[in-house]
Amino acid sequence: MENRRIVVVGAGIIGLCSAYELARRGVEVMVLDRCSTFDSASCGNAGLFSIGHGPLTKPGASWRGVRMMFDSRSPLWIRPSLSPELLRWLLTFHRHCTQAHLDRCLHTLCAMGWRTIEALEEILDRESIDCLYQRNGWLDLFRDDSLLTVAMHEAAAIAPYGYRTDFISGNELRKGNSIYRDEIAGAVHYVDSATLHPGRLVRSLASALAARGVSIRTNSTVTGLERDKSGRCTGARLASGEVVTAATTVLAAGIWSDDLARDAGLRIAMQPARGYHVQIDGLARLPCTGGIMREVSVPFTPMGSQLRLAGTLEIAPVGRPWMRKRIDALLTGARKYFHGIEHGHVTHEWAGYRPCTADGMPVIGAIAQTPGLYVATGHAMMGLTLGPVTGRIVAADLCGEPQCIDEEILRMIRPRHCD
Ligand SMILES: Cc1cc2nc3c(=O)[nH]c(=O)nc-3n(C[C@H](O)[C@H](O)[C@H](O)COP(=O)(O)OP(=O)(O)OC[C@H]3O[C@@H](n4cnc5c(N)ncnc54)[C@H](O)[C@@H]3O)c2cc1C
Repeated sequence: MENRRIVVVGAGIIGLCSAYELARRGVEVMVLDRCSTFDSASCGNAGLFSIGHGPLTKPGASWRGVRMMFDSRSPLWIRPSLSPELLRWLLTFHRHCTQAHLDRCLHTLCAMGWRTIEALEEILDRESIDCLYQRNGWLDLFRDDSLLTVAMHEAAAIAPYGYRTDFISGNELRKGNSIYRDEIAGAVHYVDSATLHPGRLVRSLASALAARGVSIRTNSTVTGLERDKSGRCTGARLASGEVVTAATTVLAAGIWSDDLARDAGLRIAMQPARGYHVQIDGLARLPCTGGIMREVSVPFTPMGSQLRLAGTLEIAPVGRPWMRKRIDALLTGARKYFHGIEHGHVTHEWAGYRPCTADGMPVIGAIAQTPGLYVATGHAMMGLTLGPVTGRIVAADLCGEPQCIDEEILRMIRPRHCD
């Protein structure tokens, strides 16, 4: 009998949302993950479901990166290296830090934003998932008054796509909640976005998939892709030597997707951007919703009775020791915006990797030169947000359904040469 199974490599938010949408369409799906517990970037991220948020490639971002290279405490830090791959990636990244590219990205990301929150809310509702989901928007908090113009300019860029923003003064914030320090000048409120507990979402999605009969095999490290004589990808090879055959293999292994794709002669040029989180308990007050402390670039999200600070972007090879000063910078940063941080206690510390492409956009689509292989990765700092819509795009492609967004708009995320 013909094998119609789809194997998804990676049980992060991208792999699980893809498996979910495929399973809902009656496809036989198997998910493979090398870990025994769910602890990927998809679980440890900041929990901001920030629709309409732009990519890393913004005008000036590359020069800021170079300046910050010499300060390993800075929010964005690139470990100095002469690696040709890193240098090529930086050059391509620099070439994409233009207003024209940003406008093209926003056109795609803003369209995906509306579809993704719709898809998320349907999943939460259908599967009765409790992941502390709150549709209260997020706050771009700033201390320096002069940043208001920049912040409002960024907000204005997504207004044409229907995204609403409000300005809230520092005094208004403090009137409602005394956690905000006097030094805060104000905030731009991105009204349409949401916050959630990402670990709870991922674990609940995995349970929902299991309940739908999807096999999620943990402790299953994929070491390579199987190909037949014609070059077609026929499945995945596991570290145990077992071969899992599939009609289509979906690579959704985050930053590790590139290593696996190379096995099929394909490059998905990405750099790992490590971030950290600290989870704080015992605070007398919590911010009213999540957001970003702009001057220190630290995202924060209240999760139940706790506060998560999650951020810093450290471009360095996978597996290097944690940098304590970068974790401490999250707490130091938060003390500048919130009262009482010093009275809380840290219950958890974590680090994980964002898969960052050089043009700032994810890569989602079938690989023309390798039939049977499909890639869904490169979501950088937007993976939680774009996970649900990515699942829909993957399922529509593989089931031959019309897409939920115009193909012309999706062109920016389709597999492309970009190293
Ligand atoms: C500090 C931080 C804060 C962030 N905040 C936000 C935020 O607020 N909002 C937002 O939208 N995004 C945020 N992100 C980005 C988001 O977390 C990522 O874009 C997203 O998690 C990527 O998901 P993924 O499924 O592609 O990869 P991952 O979550 O990395 O999952 C990949 C999975 O593949 C598995 N795997 C890898 N190799 C193999 C192999 N060989 N065999 C089998 N399995 C394998 C791994 O074990 C893992 O489970 C943040 C990221 C970080 C680090």
